[in-house]
Amino acid sequence: MKILVTGGAGYIGSVTVTQLLNRGHEVVVFDNLERGHRPAVDSRAVLFEGDLRDRERVLKVFETVKPDAVVHFAAYALVGESMEKPALYFRNNVGGGIHLIEGMLSVGVRPIVFSSTCAVYGLPERVPITEQETCKPANPYGESKRMFEKILEWHGRRDGIRAVCLRYFNAAGASGRRGEDHDPETHLIPNVLKVALGQAPAVSIFGTDYPTPDGTCIRDFIHIDDLALAHVLALEKKVSGAFNLGNGSGYSVRQVIEAARTVTGHPIPTKVASRRPGDPPVLVADAGRAKRELGWEPQIPDLTDIIRSAWEWARQHPKGYGE
Ligand code: UDP
Repeated sequence: MKILVTGGAGYIGSVTVTQLLNRGHEVVVFDNLERGHRPAVDSRAVLFEGDLRDRERVLKVFETVKPDAVVHFAAYALVGESMEKPALYFRNNVGGGIHLIEGMLSVGVRPIVFSSTCAVYGLPERVPITEQETCKPANPYGESKRMFEKILEWHGRRDGIRAVCLRYFNAAGASGRRGEDHDPETHLIPNVLKVALGQAPAVSIFGTDYPTPDGTCIRDFIHIDDLALAHVLALEKKVSGAFNLGNGSGYSVRQVIEAARTVTGHPIPTKVASRRPGDPPVLVADAGRAKRELGWEPQIPDLTDIIRSAWEWARQHPKGYGE
């Protein structure tokens, strides 16, 4: 298949591009390189620079490329930033997404794999979280992703768009020469590793008064190779709807820091900070549907292995992609 991958220069997108190419697909990347990195794009892929908010550009790319399917990563993805700047999130993640659908319809593309998130659930009533959980996003980021899922559902009914919404839990780890490089970095594992690299004196723990055993938030970390594989399977199987992607094991912020101490041998000092607005206390996946219907099985489920892969990459790329 010829696959258009938006956000293919990003953290999860770039790894998925390589897996798709290895599987024999042809890949065209569409990315504005605002938060992605040119060196992250596999040299076998064709890169079109452009922004999803630029409707004419998006329609032109579809007319030129005429893909068979779309894998859509390009979005803003920071909970904290979304609380500060909701309009930025809705304009890009929803408005830009609508241009993408218009492009798909203009050339008759039906399949799309959409990069969604467990942030669509907000504060879940039951953990581990299944796809039956009610969606009540607790921040504009999660809301923007849920809105786009719903827009896809309507175009599924009306136009036959076949959308697979992959709801990632916490993407983590590195894959070969690709790893996590955000500026500013807000994610837990890379920030912990910056301390181990000597680039920061201590890692902040955002909130120690949550209703969890050690008072810090609990997350389900999933390796980016495992996330990428789910996209490949979602394209190849004729499924649609929402799928949770996580390992089903929750680790608190303090447990992650402890695991990183073991991996790095560094004491990793911490400092307690106030809660970050919009953070739900516990997010852990029930990924049963993905296992049953996609035949998906995480290959790197162990948190220590996930952190080790991130640590190896961080040591080899102390300046990230260094552009
Ligand atoms: N977190 C933290 N210190 C940091 C970064 C994150 O305590 O430097 C916490 C954050 O408040 C959340 C968890 O770690 O409870 C995971 O945050 P991250 O930004 O990595 O992912 P999110 O769950 O927001 O997608």
